[in-house]
Amino acid sequence: MFETLTKAPGDKILALMGEYAADPRPTKIDLGVGVYKDEKGVTAVMSAVRKAEQRILENEKTKTYLGIAGNKGYGAAVLDLALADSVDRSRVRIAQAPGGTGSLWVLMQLVNRAKPGTTVWVSDPTWPNHNPIAENSGLKVKTYPYFDTETRGVKFADMLATLDKLGKDDVVLLHGCCHNPTGANLANDQWDQVAASLAKTGALPFIDLAYLGFGDGLLEDAYGTRKVISSVPEALIAFSGSKNFGLYRERVGAAILVARDAAQADVTNSQLLNIIRGAYSQPPDHGAEIIRTILEDAELRAEWETELNAMRGRMIRLREKLSEAIRQKSNSEDFDFIADHRGMFSLLGLPNETVEHLKAANGVYMIGDSRINVAGIPEDRIGDLADAMLAAIK
Ligand code: PMP
Repeated sequence: MFETLTKAPGDKILALMGEYAADPRPTKIDLGVGVYKDEKGVTAVMSAVRKAEQRILENEKTKTYLGIAGNKGYGAAVLDLALADSVDRSRVRIAQAPGGTGSLWVLMQLVNRAKPGTTVWVSDPTWPNHNPIAENSGLKVKTYPYFDTETRGVKFADMLATLDKLGKDDVVLLHGCCHNPTGANLANDQWDQVAASLAKTGALPFIDLAYLGFGDGLLEDAYGTRKVISSVPEALIAFSGSKNFGLYRERVGAAILVARDAAQADVTNSQLLNIIRGAYSQPPDHGAEIIRTILEDAELRAEWETELNAMRGRMIRLREKLSEAIRQKSNSEDFDFIADHRGMFSLLGLPNETVEHLKAANGVYMIGDSRINVAGIPEDRIGDLADAMLAAIK
Protein backbone atom coordinates (compact mmCIF):
# COMPACT_ATOMS: atom_id res chain seq x y z
CA MET A 1 0.00 0.00 0.00
CA PHE A 2 2.33 2.74 1.21
CA GLU A 3 5.08 2.18 -1.36
CA THR A 4 3.11 4.65 -3.47
CA LEU A 5 4.05 7.47 -1.11
CA THR A 6 7.03 9.79 -1.28
CA LYS A 7 8.36 11.65 1.75
CA ALA A 8 6.30 14.70 2.73
CA PRO A 9 8.26 17.91 3.34
CA GLY A 10 9.27 18.36 6.99
CA ASP A 11 8.02 21.25 9.11
CA LYS A 12 10.50 24.14 8.85
CA ILE A 13 9.77 25.53 12.32
CA LEU A 14 10.29 22.13 13.98
CA ALA A 15 13.54 21.70 12.03
CA LEU A 16 14.73 25.11 13.29
CA MET A 17 13.89 24.08 16.88
CA GLY A 18 16.08 21.00 16.39
CA GLU A 19 18.95 23.13 15.06
CA TYR A 20 18.63 25.51 18.00
CA ALA A 21 18.65 22.66 20.52
CA ALA A 22 21.83 21.23 18.91
CA ASP A 23 23.66 24.60 18.92
CA PRO A 24 26.26 24.45 21.75
CA ARG A 25 26.76 28.25 22.02
CA PRO A 26 25.56 29.48 25.44
CA THR A 27 24.80 32.91 23.94
CA LYS A 28 22.29 31.56 21.39
CA ILE A 29 18.93 33.35 21.18
CA ASP A 30 15.67 31.62 20.19
CA LEU A 31 13.27 33.93 18.37
CA GLY A 32 11.79 31.03 16.40
CA VAL A 33 8.91 28.89 17.51
CA GLY A 34 5.55 30.58 18.15
CA VAL A 35 4.91 29.95 21.83
CA TYR A 36 5.00 32.54 24.60
CA LYS A 37 8.06 32.29 26.84
CA ASP A 38 8.72 34.12 30.09
CA GLU A 39 11.97 35.85 31.07
CA LYS A 40 13.52 32.48 31.89
CA GLY A 41 12.61 31.16 28.44
CA VAL A 42 9.93 28.90 29.91
CA THR A 43 6.37 28.39 28.65
CA ALA A 44 4.93 28.02 32.13
CA VAL A 45 1.47 26.78 33.14
CA MET A 46 -0.54 29.86 34.16
CA SER A 47 -1.40 30.00 37.83
CA ALA A 48 -5.15 30.41 37.14
CA VAL A 49 -4.95 27.31 34.95
CA ARG A 50 -3.28 25.28 37.67
CA LYS A 51 -5.91 26.32 40.21
CA ALA A 52 -8.73 25.48 37.79
CA GLU A 53 -7.17 22.07 37.18
CA GLN A 54 -7.08 21.41 40.94
CA ARG A 55 -10.77 22.24 41.20
CA ILE A 56 -11.60 20.03 38.25
CA LEU A 57 -9.66 17.12 39.74
CA GLU A 58 -11.58 17.45 43.00
CA ASN A 59 -15.03 17.98 41.52
CA GLU A 60 -15.15 15.97 38.31
CA LYS A 61 -17.81 13.26 38.58
CA THR A 62 -17.59 11.51 35.23
CA LYS A 63 -15.58 11.05 32.07
CA THR A 64 -18.58 10.16 29.95
CA TYR A 65 -19.02 11.69 26.47
CA LEU A 66 -19.63 15.42 26.23
CA GLY A 67 -21.51 15.62 22.95
CA ILE A 68 -20.50 16.78 19.49
CA ALA A 69 -20.46 20.51 20.31
CA GLY A 70 -18.31 19.90 23.38
CA ASN A 71 -18.46 21.70 26.71
CA LYS A 72 -21.56 23.94 26.68
CA GLY A 73 -20.46 26.22 29.53
CA TYR A 74 -17.16 26.76 27.72
CA GLY A 75 -19.00 27.69 24.52
CA ALA A 76 -21.13 30.30 26.31
CA ALA A 77 -18.09 31.73 28.11
CA VAL A 78 -16.09 32.02 24.88
CA LEU A 79 -18.97 33.83 23.17
CA ASP A 80 -19.14 36.30 26.06
CA LEU A 81 -15.37 36.79 25.92
CA ALA A 82 -14.94 37.15 22.16
CA LEU A 83 -18.24 38.56 20.89
CA ALA A 84 -19.97 40.04 23.98
CA ASP A 85 -23.22 41.64 22.78
CA SER A 86 -22.00 42.57 19.29
CA VAL A 87 -24.51 40.23 17.64
CA ASP A 88 -27.89 38.68 18.50
CA ARG A 89 -27.04 35.29 20.02
CA SER A 90 -30.04 33.61 18.35
CA ARG A 91 -27.98 33.87 15.12
CA VAL A 92 -24.82 32.40 16.68
CA ARG A 93 -23.75 28.78 17.19
CA ILE A 94 -20.50 27.52 18.72
CA ALA A 95 -18.81 24.13 18.74
CA GLN A 96 -15.74 23.46 20.84
CA ALA A 97 -12.99 22.10 18.57
CA PRO A 98 -9.38 20.90 18.94
CA GLY A 99 -7.42 24.15 18.97
CA GLY A 100 -7.64 27.03 16.55
CA THR A 101 -6.41 24.62 13.89
CA GLY A 102 -9.25 22.14 14.45
CA SER A 103 -11.70 25.05 14.42
CA LEU A 104 -10.32 26.35 11.13
CA TRP A 105 -10.51 22.82 9.74
CA VAL A 106 -14.17 22.13 10.54
CA LEU A 107 -15.23 25.61 9.36
CA MET A 108 -13.34 25.23 6.06
CA GLN A 109 -15.06 21.86 5.63
CA LEU A 110 -18.37 23.64 6.24
CA VAL A 111 -17.62 26.23 3.54
CA ASN A 112 -16.76 23.45 1.11
CA ARG A 113 -20.02 21.66 1.90
CA ALA A 114 -21.99 24.82 1.23
CA LYS A 115 -20.08 25.73 -1.97
CA PRO A 116 -17.43 23.24 -3.09
CA GLY A 117 -14.22 24.78 -4.40
CA THR A 118 -14.93 28.25 -2.97
CA THR A 119 -12.00 30.67 -3.01
CA VAL A 120 -10.61 31.72 0.35
CA TRP A 121 -8.67 35.00 0.23
CA VAL A 122 -5.82 35.08 2.71
CA SER A 123 -3.44 37.92 3.59
CA ASP A 124 -0.05 38.07 1.86
CA PRO A 125 1.67 36.67 3.88
CA THR A 126 -0.36 34.58 6.31
CA TRP A 127 0.11 31.79 8.86
CA PRO A 128 1.57 29.00 6.68
CA ASN A 129 -1.01 26.47 7.89
CA HIS A 130 -3.95 28.42 6.43
CA ASN A 131 -3.21 27.23 2.89
CA PRO A 132 -3.05 23.48 3.56
CA ILE A 133 -6.11 23.59 5.82
CA ALA A 134 -8.12 25.33 3.09
CA GLU A 135 -6.76 23.20 0.26
CA ASN A 136 -7.17 19.93 2.14
CA SER A 137 -10.80 20.94 2.65
CA GLY A 138 -11.29 21.31 -1.11
CA LEU A 139 -11.10 25.11 -1.21
CA LYS A 140 -8.98 27.34 -3.44
CA VAL A 141 -6.64 29.94 -1.97
CA LYS A 142 -5.84 33.41 -3.32
CA THR A 143 -4.08 36.28 -1.57
CA TYR A 144 -4.97 39.90 -0.89
CA PRO A 145 -2.16 42.49 -0.42
CA TYR A 146 -1.30 42.96 3.24
CA PHE A 147 2.29 43.53 4.39
CA ASP A 148 4.18 46.54 3.09
CA THR A 149 7.84 45.49 2.99
CA GLU A 150 8.91 49.16 2.90
CA THR A 151 7.04 50.49 5.94
CA ARG A 152 6.49 47.10 7.63
CA GLY A 153 2.90 48.24 8.14
CA VAL A 154 -0.29 47.19 6.34
CA LYS A 155 -0.71 48.08 2.65
CA PHE A 156 -4.21 49.12 3.49
CA ALA A 157 -5.29 50.88 0.29
CA ASP A 158 -4.24 47.87 -1.80
CA MET A 159 -5.87 45.45 0.61
CA LEU A 160 -9.16 47.33 0.54
CA ALA A 161 -9.10 47.71 -3.24
CA THR A 162 -8.84 43.91 -3.56
CA LEU A 163 -11.56 43.23 -0.97
CA ASP A 164 -13.86 45.74 -2.71
CA LYS A 165 -13.73 43.64 -5.89
CA LEU A 166 -14.85 40.39 -4.21
CA GLY A 167 -18.34 38.95 -4.36
CA LYS A 168 -20.73 36.81 -2.35
CA ASP A 169 -19.04 33.56 -3.42
CA ASP A 170 -15.71 34.61 -1.86
CA VAL A 171 -14.43 34.00 1.66
CA VAL A 172 -12.02 36.48 3.29
CA LEU A 173 -9.78 35.12 6.01
CA LEU A 174 -8.83 37.88 8.46
CA HIS A 175 -6.57 37.72 11.50
CA GLY A 176 -8.75 39.11 14.30
CA CYS A 177 -5.70 40.67 15.98
CA CYS A 178 -1.95 40.09 16.37
CA HIS A 179 -1.29 39.16 12.74
CA ASN A 180 0.94 36.11 12.28
CA PRO A 181 3.62 36.33 10.88
CA THR A 182 3.88 40.09 10.41
CA GLY A 183 2.75 41.73 13.68
CA ALA A 184 1.24 44.53 11.51
CA ASN A 185 -2.42 45.06 12.31
CA LEU A 186 -5.40 47.10 11.17
CA ALA A 187 -6.30 50.25 13.11
CA ASN A 188 -9.91 50.50 14.28
CA ASP A 189 -10.91 52.89 11.48
CA GLN A 190 -9.44 50.41 8.99
CA TRP A 191 -11.52 47.61 10.53
CA ASP A 192 -14.53 49.88 10.02
CA GLN A 193 -13.69 50.16 6.34
CA VAL A 194 -13.11 46.41 5.97
CA ALA A 195 -16.46 45.73 7.66
CA ALA A 196 -18.19 48.21 5.31
CA SER A 197 -16.52 46.58 2.29
CA LEU A 198 -17.66 43.09 3.35
CA ALA A 199 -21.19 44.38 3.99
CA LYS A 200 -21.23 45.90 0.49
CA THR A 201 -19.74 43.00 -1.48
CA GLY A 202 -21.35 40.14 0.45
CA ALA A 203 -18.01 38.27 0.71
CA LEU A 204 -18.02 36.01 3.79
CA PRO A 205 -15.67 37.05 6.61
CA PHE A 206 -13.81 34.21 8.29
CA ILE A 207 -11.90 35.49 11.32
CA ASP A 208 -8.97 33.63 12.81
CA LEU A 209 -8.88 34.74 16.46
CA ALA A 210 -5.84 32.95 17.85
CA TYR A 211 -4.30 35.70 20.03
CA LEU A 212 -7.14 37.50 21.80
CA GLY A 213 -5.53 39.54 24.61
CA PHE A 214 -1.98 39.36 23.23
CA GLY A 215 -2.12 42.71 21.39
CA ASP A 216 -3.52 45.72 23.25
CA GLY A 217 -6.03 44.08 25.62
CA LEU A 218 -9.00 41.69 25.63
CA LEU A 219 -11.47 44.41 24.66
CA GLU A 220 -9.17 46.23 22.24
CA ASP A 221 -8.21 43.03 20.42
CA ALA A 222 -11.88 42.05 19.93
CA TYR A 223 -12.71 45.33 18.14
CA GLY A 224 -12.25 44.06 14.59
CA THR A 225 -14.11 40.80 15.12
CA ARG A 226 -17.05 42.53 16.79
CA LYS A 227 -17.17 45.31 14.19
CA VAL A 228 -17.18 42.86 11.30
CA ILE A 229 -19.79 40.49 12.69
CA SER A 230 -22.09 43.33 13.67
CA SER A 231 -21.94 44.62 10.07
CA VAL A 232 -22.64 41.49 8.03
CA PRO A 233 -25.37 38.83 7.82
CA GLU A 234 -23.02 35.82 8.00
CA ALA A 235 -19.54 35.18 9.41
CA LEU A 236 -17.25 32.43 10.71
CA ILE A 237 -14.76 32.66 13.58
CA ALA A 238 -12.06 30.20 14.63
CA PHE A 239 -11.13 30.87 18.26
CA SER A 240 -8.03 29.45 19.96
CA GLY A 241 -7.33 29.15 23.69
CA SER A 242 -3.77 27.95 23.05
CA LYS A 243 -1.95 31.27 23.55
CA ASN A 244 -4.10 33.39 25.86
CA PHE A 245 -4.62 30.53 28.33
CA GLY A 246 -1.25 28.86 27.59
CA LEU A 247 -3.10 25.60 26.85
CA TYR A 248 -1.24 24.70 23.66
CA ARG A 249 -1.13 20.94 24.12
CA GLU A 250 -4.65 20.64 25.48
CA ARG A 251 -5.99 21.51 22.03
CA VAL A 252 -8.79 23.86 22.91
CA GLY A 253 -10.53 26.13 20.44
CA ALA A 254 -13.97 26.87 19.08
CA ALA A 255 -15.72 27.05 15.71
CA ILE A 256 -18.26 29.87 15.75
CA LEU A 257 -20.84 30.63 13.09
CA VAL A 258 -23.02 33.70 12.70
CA ALA A 259 -26.01 33.10 10.42
CA ARG A 260 -28.58 35.46 8.89
CA ASP A 261 -31.29 34.26 11.30
CA ALA A 262 -31.96 31.60 13.92
CA ALA A 263 -33.50 29.12 11.46
CA GLN A 264 -30.47 29.32 9.14
CA ALA A 265 -28.18 29.04 12.17
CA ASP A 266 -29.84 25.73 13.11
CA VAL A 267 -29.49 24.32 9.60
CA THR A 268 -25.86 25.43 9.16
CA ASN A 269 -24.98 24.23 12.66
CA SER A 270 -26.48 20.80 11.94
CA GLN A 271 -24.00 20.50 9.05
CA LEU A 272 -21.12 21.66 11.25
CA LEU A 273 -21.99 19.05 13.89
CA ASN A 274 -22.32 16.43 11.16
CA ILE A 275 -18.79 17.27 9.92
CA ILE A 276 -17.40 16.97 13.46
CA ARG A 277 -19.19 13.67 14.05
CA GLY A 278 -17.64 12.24 10.89
CA ALA A 279 -14.15 13.53 11.74
CA TYR A 280 -13.34 13.03 15.45
CA SER A 281 -16.85 12.57 16.89
CA GLN A 282 -16.37 15.03 19.74
CA PRO A 283 -13.66 17.18 21.26
CA PRO A 284 -11.63 16.45 24.40
CA ASP A 285 -12.93 18.18 27.56
CA HIS A 286 -9.96 19.07 29.73
CA GLY A 287 -8.79 22.35 28.20
CA ALA A 288 -12.34 23.59 27.69
CA GLU A 289 -13.29 22.78 31.27
CA ILE A 290 -10.23 24.74 32.45
CA ILE A 291 -11.30 27.79 30.45
CA ARG A 292 -14.93 27.46 31.60
CA THR A 293 -13.82 27.22 35.23
CA ILE A 294 -11.64 30.32 34.91
CA LEU A 295 -14.10 32.49 33.00
CA GLU A 296 -17.09 31.62 35.22
CA ASP A 297 -15.27 32.34 38.49
CA ALA A 298 -14.65 36.01 39.31
CA GLU A 299 -11.49 35.35 41.29
CA LEU A 300 -9.86 32.97 38.81
CA ARG A 301 -10.84 35.21 35.95
CA ALA A 302 -9.22 38.23 37.58
CA GLU A 303 -6.07 36.18 38.21
CA TRP A 304 -6.01 35.00 34.60
CA GLU A 305 -6.47 38.54 33.29
CA THR A 306 -3.62 39.77 35.50
CA GLU A 307 -1.34 37.05 34.14
CA LEU A 308 -2.40 37.74 30.56
CA ASN A 309 -1.82 41.47 31.05
CA ALA A 310 1.67 40.73 32.36
CA MET A 311 2.52 38.60 29.32
CA ARG A 312 1.23 41.27 26.96
CA GLY A 313 3.00 44.04 28.87
CA ARG A 314 6.26 42.12 28.73
CA MET A 315 6.02 41.64 24.96
CA ILE A 316 5.31 45.36 24.44
CA ARG A 317 8.23 46.31 26.71
CA LEU A 318 10.60 44.03 24.80
CA ARG A 319 9.42 45.53 21.51
CA GLU A 320 10.07 49.05 22.81
CA LYS A 321 13.47 48.19 24.27
CA LEU A 322 14.74 46.47 21.13
CA SER A 323 13.62 49.23 18.77
CA GLU A 324 15.04 51.84 21.15
CA ALA A 325 18.41 50.03 21.35
CA ILE A 326 18.61 49.82 17.56
CA ARG A 327 17.65 53.48 17.21
CA GLN A 328 20.36 54.58 19.62
CA LYS A 329 23.06 52.40 18.12
CA SER A 330 22.28 53.18 14.48
CA ASN A 331 20.80 56.64 14.73
CA SER A 332 18.01 55.47 12.42
CA GLU A 333 14.31 54.80 12.80
CA ASP A 334 14.40 51.80 10.48
CA PHE A 335 13.39 49.33 13.20
CA ASP A 336 10.87 51.52 15.02
CA PHE A 337 8.16 49.34 13.48
CA ILE A 338 9.01 46.62 16.03
CA ALA A 339 7.50 48.84 18.73
CA ASP A 340 4.44 49.59 16.61
CA HIS A 341 3.67 45.95 15.85
CA ARG A 342 1.47 43.97 18.22
CA GLY A 343 1.13 40.33 19.24
CA MET A 344 3.84 37.75 19.58
CA PHE A 345 5.49 38.32 16.18
CA SER A 346 7.21 40.85 13.99
CA LEU A 347 8.26 40.25 10.42
CA LEU A 348 11.58 42.07 10.13
CA GLY A 349 11.58 42.06 6.33
CA LEU A 350 15.17 40.78 6.09
CA PRO A 351 16.39 38.64 3.18
CA ASN A 352 16.97 34.95 3.90
CA GLU A 353 20.80 35.35 3.64
CA THR A 354 20.65 37.83 6.53
CA VAL A 355 18.53 35.42 8.59
CA GLU A 356 21.06 32.65 7.88
CA HIS A 357 23.95 34.95 8.73
CA LEU A 358 22.43 35.89 12.10
CA LYS A 359 22.10 32.20 12.90
CA ALA A 360 25.60 31.23 11.79
CA ALA A 361 27.49 34.25 13.15
CA ASN A 362 25.53 35.06 16.31
CA GLY A 363 23.33 32.08 17.14
CA VAL A 364 20.22 34.26 16.66
CA TYR A 365 17.46 31.95 15.44
CA MET A 366 14.36 33.23 13.62
CA ILE A 367 12.03 31.81 10.97
CA GLY A 368 13.43 31.90 7.41
CA ASP A 369 11.03 34.67 6.37
CA SER A 370 12.58 36.81 9.19
CA ARG A 371 9.67 36.43 11.63
CA ILE A 372 10.75 36.88 15.23
CA ASN A 373 8.91 35.80 18.37
CA VAL A 374 9.28 38.89 20.56
CA ALA A 375 8.70 36.83 23.73
CA GLY A 376 12.09 35.21 23.01
CA ILE A 377 14.03 38.51 23.14
CA PRO A 378 16.41 38.23 26.13
CA GLU A 379 15.77 41.38 28.18
CA ASP A 380 19.25 41.41 29.71
CA ARG A 381 20.96 41.06 26.30
CA ILE A 382 18.98 43.42 24.13
CA GLY A 383 22.13 45.39 23.31
CA ASP A 384 23.85 42.24 21.98
CA LEU A 385 20.82 41.39 19.87
CA ALA A 386 20.65 44.93 18.45
CA ASP A 387 24.41 44.79 17.63
CA ALA A 388 24.01 41.44 15.88
CA MET A 389 21.04 42.69 13.84
CA LEU A 390 22.82 45.90 12.81
CA ALA A 391 25.99 44.03 11.87
CA ALA A 392 23.97 41.55 9.79
CA ILE A 393 22.21 44.20 7.71
CA LYS A 394 25.38 46.17 6.89
N1 PMP B 1 -4.10 30.72 13.68
C1 PMP B 1 -2.94 31.36 13.79
C2 PMP B 1 -2.76 32.65 13.06
C3 PMP B 1 -1.93 30.83 14.59
O1 PMP B 1 -0.78 31.49 14.69
C4 PMP B 1 -2.14 29.62 15.26
C5 PMP B 1 -1.07 29.01 16.11
N2 PMP B 1 0.21 29.09 15.70
C6 PMP B 1 -3.38 28.99 15.11
C7 PMP B 1 -4.32 29.57 14.31
C8 PMP B 1 -3.73 27.68 15.74
O2 PMP B 1 -3.38 27.45 17.00
P1 PMP B 1 -3.77 26.14 17.79
O3 PMP B 1 -4.30 25.14 16.83
O4 PMP B 1 -2.52 25.70 18.45
O5 PMP B 1 -4.83 26.59 18.74
